[in-house]
Amino acid sequence: MSFADVLARARAEGRTLLSEVEAKDVLREAGVPVTLTTLATSADEAVTQSEAAGYPVVLKVVSPDIAHKSDAGGVKLNLKTADEVRAAHAAILKSCSEAVPGAKITGVAVQHMAPQGTEVIVGMTTDAQFGPVMMFGLGGIMVEVLKDVSFRLVPLADRDAGQMIDEIKGRPVLSGVRGQPASDIAALKSTILKVSEFVAQHPEVQELDLNPVFAYPDGAIAVDARIIVSAS
Ligand code: ADP
Ligand code: MG
Repeated sequence: MSFADVLARARAEGRTLLSEVEAKDVLREAGVPVTLTTLATSADEAVTQSEAAGYPVVLKVVSPDIAHKSDAGGVKLNLKTADEVRAAHAAILKSCSEAVPGAKITGVAVQHMAPQGTEVIVGMTTDAQFGPVMMFGLGGIMVEVLKDVSFRLVPLADRDAGQMIDEIKGRPVLSGVRGQPASDIAALKSTILKVSEFVAQHPEVQELDLNPVFAYPDGAIAVDARIIVSAS
């Protein structure tokens, strides 16, 4: 589905939060590397889609009322068999309806489990004064606790992406430390620039988070995507 179609559907349903499946579809179309992710509306569909995705798989809740899926018990990783998928599907529905009473649950997102990489975050927020601003940082504790992030106004020039990466304090991590492999900086730059182009082309996008992107010695891929659009 195109961005225009996804936007029209979200607005028709009174949603500003795109689903992970929708967000990844529009980002893939924009050339951003994301894990192929499909929506299952039953346990049987989740199994069929898991077989198509290839085990091991990840299942996640899809709900317009749940933005942070892990917090609600809505993410199950490393599922290796149809039985594990069925059990995870039931567990996700149960814990999410307990964690967020009354939440509308659209279904479950199914995707292949990507190999662990170095976690980074690529995001965009809309500043009241400056408009869209891109953000880059290392994932997990680095961004949450240390606020080790860099910012640039959209649209970015080519060299801005490289500077954003070089400015973070944790930059040496991306060159490889303590036996960890180096990350593909060119792939990260390209991801930042593609996201910047995407948000520049779509002013309806208010917020965007790829958290995390897994960076590898060769390539990078977003395993989670969250997009918030304006209500009208
Ligand atoms: P949340 O809404 O809680 O941010 P995420 O989609 O980011 O949910 O999933 C939580 C964590 O699970 C991620 O930070 C990542 O470590 C892991 N994860 C999610 N999807 C995948 C995947 N396709 N492959 C490997 N790990 C994944
Ligand atoms: Mg996430």
